[in-house]
Amino acid sequence: MSITRQTFGKMSDGADVDLYTLTNENGMVVKITNYGGIITSVLVPDADGIPGDVVLGYDDLQGYLEKTPYFGAIIGRYGNRIAGGKFSIDGRTYSLVTNNGPNHLHGGTVGFDKVLWTANTVEREGEVALELSYISKDMEEGYPGKLETRVVYTLTRENEIKIEYFAKTSETTHVNLTNHSYFNLKDGGATPHLDHVMHINADSITPVDATLIPTGVMVPVERTPFDFRTPHPIGERIDAVEEQINYGGGYDHNFVLNGETGELKLAARVVEPSTGRMMEVWTEEPGVQFYTGNFLDGTITGKGGIVYNRRHGFCLETQHYPDSPNKPDFPSTLLRPGEEYHTTTTYKFSVEN
Ligand code: BGC
Repeated sequence: MSITRQTFGKMSDGADVDLYTLTNENGMVVKITNYGGIITSVLVPDADGIPGDVVLGYDDLQGYLEKTPYFGAIIGRYGNRIAGGKFSIDGRTYSLVTNNGPNHLHGGTVGFDKVLWTANTVEREGEVALELSYISKDMEEGYPGKLETRVVYTLTRENEIKIEYFAKTSETTHVNLTNHSYFNLKDGGATPHLDHVMHINADSITPVDATLIPTGVMVPVERTPFDFRTPHPIGERIDAVEEQINYGGGYDHNFVLNGETGELKLAARVVEPSTGRMMEVWTEEPGVQFYTGNFLDGTITGKGGIVYNRRHGFCLETQHYPDSPNKPDFPSTLLRPGEEYHTTTTYKFSVEN
């Protein structure tokens, strides 16, 4: 196994950005830049052993600097939306940057996806890792507390990308970190992903209003297009989602995972039938945002000249539920001084036999 570093480009202020290549003995190759902690490429073999890139993104840093729907990035301080960009802690109201209509999305205008992380490479028996750290200043994007954040990406010999998130705060604050990779196990996003067969380990979802904020209730998936407790092609019922609950233009919903928060459990398993590629997502988080790339619209040309059209990439963003700071019944995202935020999510690649 190996981990190497190369130059990826410069930030607008001249700071150097690097690209790290993690390789294991099965021919799996993962590239990650310290700009936004973005996973730029994941090469995995198909059932015939032919490697293919399964994530959407750009060939160069410039693309990420100019325009990106969060391709591959670390999202923080808060993955997903906070209603009105506001929350209260101990009687004090905080106003966050609003960057998605009336709401706050994915950490604000300059979230963790757009900052330069300090990188450190680690080589251990059977795995290589990239350790990224970033210190978010008190009141950055409106959040209280200085947040010392660390994200460790590990490639294992079991073809897993393990992502461990750590944070400590100086003041009580809210934290909800995730990764925003867009997957297409067939061709990295050249064609729609609708034939992928999806299983999601969730009995319910948190339905949303017109601005994609959860209404606060949990609705069983039974007899709805959200029932992925047995595997279904993504495209089979996606139009029914549009007709019934058209706010996200397809799947763009938080699934309430079965099992305990803090315990590693299967969130989702997805198989691409023509290549046999399979991905499993395991997480300690209570939820996963299944987003089918409904807002991709062909205006982005990415790696190798591929045009990313609507529904050419899907995300499985493990997370606490959207708007948890304003939903007392949802699992809490509060982090207090002296506590350590620590959560793990693993993306595991294989082929279906
Ligand atoms: C959200 C979508 C949003 C997208 C941005 C996803 O996590 O659920 O609503 O449009 O991120 O690319």
